Amino acid sequence: MKGVSILMYHQVGDFHGVAAHRALYCHHRRFAAQMAFLRRFGYRVLTMDRVLDCLSGAAPMPSRAVAITFDDGYENFYRHALPELQRHGFPATVFVVAGLVGKPARWLEADGLSQPMLMDAPRLRELRRAGITIGSHAVHHVRLAGLAPGRLDAELAGSRTLLEDLLGEPVAHLCYPYGSHDLGVVEAAARAEYRSATTCQRALATAAFDPLALPRKAISLGDNLIGYAWKLLAKNAPKGVPVSRDPSRW
Ligand SMILES: [Zn+2]
Repeated sequence: MKGVSILMYHQVGDFHGVAAHRALYCHHRRFAAQMAFLRRFGYRVLTMDRVLDCLSGAAPMPSRAVAITFDDGYENFYRHALPELQRHGFPATVFVVAGLVGKPARWLEADGLSQPMLMDAPRLRELRRAGITIGSHAVHHVRLAGLAPGRLDAELAGSRTLLEDLLGEPVAHLCYPYGSHDLGVVEAAARAEYRSATTCQRALATAAFDPLALPRKAISLGDNLIGYAWKLLAKNAPKGVPVSRDPSRW
């Protein structure tokens, strides 16, 4: 089955000697090389809207389809990732923690990590003018699985409203913090009328997945170009049974 490699990045910058949580970092020189690799080998980089069109059959699926996503909305996206994306004319989606716009990434404190700054409202509006898609990463960067429906709606519908007010346009795409989701979370995403939601399960995204539980492929600090190419080619069935609503959702 044809599909899309939805790539997951977090911070892009000048990182050295990172021992833990390496999937949260990508060195900016490697990021530049990865974008050049996509161009060199003819990958088609899709917006999340286009991903859904291709998965639903509304548009033909290119043979080397990729989408590029960034979790959390770090300020270093603007300095290090955006210029490389623009160099190649690649679209990307940034998933923003709606309650922490312009603030430090406080949730990282629990893991003993530094708390870099997250992009502020003017910056996010600037990204929109540059063609970057802004998606939701909930209000508070909390684990959503198991939360009561009222809390879930506050995080998912609430973040959508906050971001739509900030941007003055619809927000259609969601990413679950920590990838944490269960059927209740997926149903809350449906109530909030998101078109897509992404997880941290590693697999090629195909029409076999619920559009509100699409897998991704995390790009880690340790991925050289061979590792990167390997991840692009891999189909990797996700561990465990993917969470899904009824099969008529597409
Ligand atoms: Zn996150």
